[in-house]
Amino acid sequence: MMHQDSGNHWGKDEFGRLLDMIKAFGFTCFEYWLEPTLYKTALKQDGMYSEFIETMDEVNELAHARGLKVKYISSPNCIGHEWYFACPNDPEDKKMILKLWSHWAKALKGTDFVGIFPGDPGGCNRNACDHNTFINLALELGEITLRENPGATIELGTWGTPFSGWGDDMAHVKDWDGSWKMLLEGINEINVGGCHIWNGNPDRARKAMEDFIRRLPEFPDDAIVGINLGFSPDADPTVGGDAREYVREVAKLRRVSSWDYSVVEGELIVYPHWRLPRIFSRRREEMTAAPYYGAMSYTMSPKLSHLSMYAAAQASIDPDRNPDLVSREFCGKVFGTQHEMLGELFEAFEVVKGWGHHPRRNWSRQEAHRAYTKIIDHLENADTDKCSLPLFPSPAEYHRDLLWFARMFARLSGPNPDRDAIRKEYWQNCLSIYDKVPMSVDERAESAAKQFSQLFS
Ligand SMILES: [Zn+2]
Repeated sequence: MMHQDSGNHWGKDEFGRLLDMIKAFGFTCFEYWLEPTLYKTALKQDGMYSEFIETMDEVNELAHARGLKVKYISSPNCIGHEWYFACPNDPEDKKMILKLWSHWAKALKGTDFVGIFPGDPGGCNRNACDHNTFINLALELGEITLRENPGATIELGTWGTPFSGWGDDMAHVKDWDGSWKMLLEGINEINVGGCHIWNGNPDRARKAMEDFIRRLPEFPDDAIVGINLGFSPDADPTVGGDAREYVREVAKLRRVSSWDYSVVEGELIVYPHWRLPRIFSRRREEMTAAPYYGAMSYTMSPKLSHLSMYAAAQASIDPDRNPDLVSREFCGKVFGTQHEMLGELFEAFEVVKGWGHHPRRNWSRQEAHRAYTKIIDHLENADTDKCSLPLFPSPAEYHRDLLWFARMFARLSGPNPDRDAIRKEYWQNCLSIYDKVPMSVDERAESAAKQFSQLFS
């Protein structure tokens, strides 16, 4: 979205159309991540910085004209493309953290919600930093936000076990210098197969939440707390345990919203996700556990995830709706009622074992292949001339992309697929933006293409 020469650059027109679409789906707020590479550009105020500010200023106006709110989230201490984890207990680092936070709060004044996100990436356990360091920092950042952007509402993220990356949630790497590189090398040495975060247990979660709930009255009355049903990457009661007792306590003091990240999409492998039953059941679980005020739906592929986004919005409006009927309703609106069965058939795309993959049905290679053949047949006979939803980029492009994926899945589930050719085609269609912009610092795109090409192997 940010790089001029990427071929996928979004300006006012593209954002306006995206907002039209999510408004039609039923969302009330557009949320984006002020990610570390961009976040640091404020120090130099280079071209990308000023252009981004101008665009997002316009996005605020475009959203408000449509009756939508806008929110950005940022993890305040992960800084720059190289992911430097600045330490609030280091005076120089602390100065930089506060300076950047004020820069952005001022520059994006007019944004309705500002999410103070603990990390991933981000956090610190150097110089005795722990979960209380994040709580203290969040208090300071909240004050800065309201000074620069008085109309904003603060959201406090608890993500992790909880507070990702702070104290014992982060792996302890000896003599760590705050660099992502050394952190990664360190965890490979001490914790084979582990992760730099998600190292907390239920005891640590209890300490963190007790301290947080005690301090919560110090935060603004209208602050929202982002807290899931469980302290694990899938919001389950594993790793840091069951969160429901804390959600109920927090809800007595402040509004709560969930930040159930992987239920809709997860990360890495771009494909047309189909997680509808779990999206709806999760919203129902939340509503029975505590008086949730809101939820979020995450995507890294907004030009492909239309069905997931539509379902996620509908699940927040009415969690009791039947997810299969919602999927057919969507496909009826896009491709015409004679092709509404596509909504059901798309479940066969949910075979990629990535983050948040909890499929309702398991598919044999043969049955999946039969489903893909039916999808191809429907899509080849469908058009989107009468599409009644304002899809962005366009219903025709969505149609084309789905057909491309259906054919790829059919090849992968068919006899003797040329997996190397598929890997290259997948890269070209889904990830070739990395041929034009700097590779993400965790370098996961290559493995995504490889994993996709190995489906059904
Ligand atoms: Zn620190």
